[in-house]
Amino acid sequence: MKDKRLFTPGPTEVPKEVLKAISGKVMHHRKKEFSGIFENVIKNSASVFRSQGEIFLFSSSGTGAMEASVVNLTSPGDKALVIIAGKFGQRWAQLCSAFDVETEIIDCPWGEAVDPQKIKDSLQANPDIKAVFTTLLETSTAVVHPIKEIAEAVRGTNALLAVDAVSGLSCEELETDQWGVDVVVAASHKALMNPPGLGLLCVSDKAKRAYENNARKSYYWDLKKASASLKNLQTPYTPAVNMVYGLDKAIEMILAEGVENVWQRHRDLAGVAREALQDMGLELFSTSPSNGLTAVKVPEGKDCKKILTNLEENARMVFAGGQSHLKGKIIRIAHMGWCAEKDLRRALDALKKELEKQ
Ligand SMILES: *Cc1c(COP(=O)(O)O)cnc(C)c1O
Repeated sequence: MKDKRLFTPGPTEVPKEVLKAISGKVMHHRKKEFSGIFENVIKNSASVFRSQGEIFLFSSSGTGAMEASVVNLTSPGDKALVIIAGKFGQRWAQLCSAFDVETEIIDCPWGEAVDPQKIKDSLQANPDIKAVFTTLLETSTAVVHPIKEIAEAVRGTNALLAVDAVSGLSCEELETDQWGVDVVVAASHKALMNPPGLGLLCVSDKAKRAYENNARKSYYWDLKKASASLKNLQTPYTPAVNMVYGLDKAIEMILAEGVENVWQRHRDLAGVAREALQDMGLELFSTSPSNGLTAVKVPEGKDCKKILTNLEENARMVFAGGQSHLKGKIIRIAHMGWCAEKDLRRALDALKKELEKQ
């Protein structure tokens, strides 16, 4: 039976070159052969993050790196501002609550991006806010938030800006240092073209001062310890060695294509998706549509579950439906990472045929 092609926003398709790298001989993580690869990944990732900050790798999913941000930037009783416009904004709020961080919430309708003025107003009204937690690409709604403008709103305050770019890194434009983003969270299994297994964190000097002086204790996620290890090109605990080979390969591929060209490819793919879907008579769900995935409303009278199941079983393509209250209401087609126009066109054709059949 033919393999199923993933058009889901994580995990995503992994190129053969990356799978081959991952299948390499396991090295000992304290030996210099591995440190050489580790050094290469960290050095090259800086170009993808567009930052001179510290870069940490965790053997975890994306949520682990989000947790690392919360525990290292905040102490119990601190106040944080959280932007919620979907499931992943909610995750920041849940993490804050799990670690006794008081939250100011800006709630946006799902499908819309946040208005940066609201962030400015909230920071002015709450000068004690220590950190702002937001999302680059809100995967649950296919919305991209205006991080550059959000960073302008945060600039000049004492607050740190942490951005969940788990799905956005490398498919949405992000100028970490230039815009003034303090923490960027990423993961291997979205636009970074790897299987699940690695969480990444990019940390500014301002955020470094915060974690160095932070009163909260943590263990696995302790950035003070991770930073000391990083100086020796190591991690405090055994890293997912073979996953690091895979990430190294994928980052090399991104740099060979050129980070800005990769952004442009995603812009073009998103353009193709939006046009084709609207030509089918479908309505885009997001008012600020992302480049990494596109969400459309399921037309009245059509059965979302049946559409997705048929596409999976017959066309051998996996699409995503909606999450939470959007279940059955939207279809999400990811075109992030290892995706060319011909792959996307095949997916769009299959969807069109399926809709016509229903
Ligand atoms: C996938 C994703 C995450 C993390 O999910 P994990 O399952 O923990 O990897 C976080 N934020 C966004 C925006 C995501 O798309």
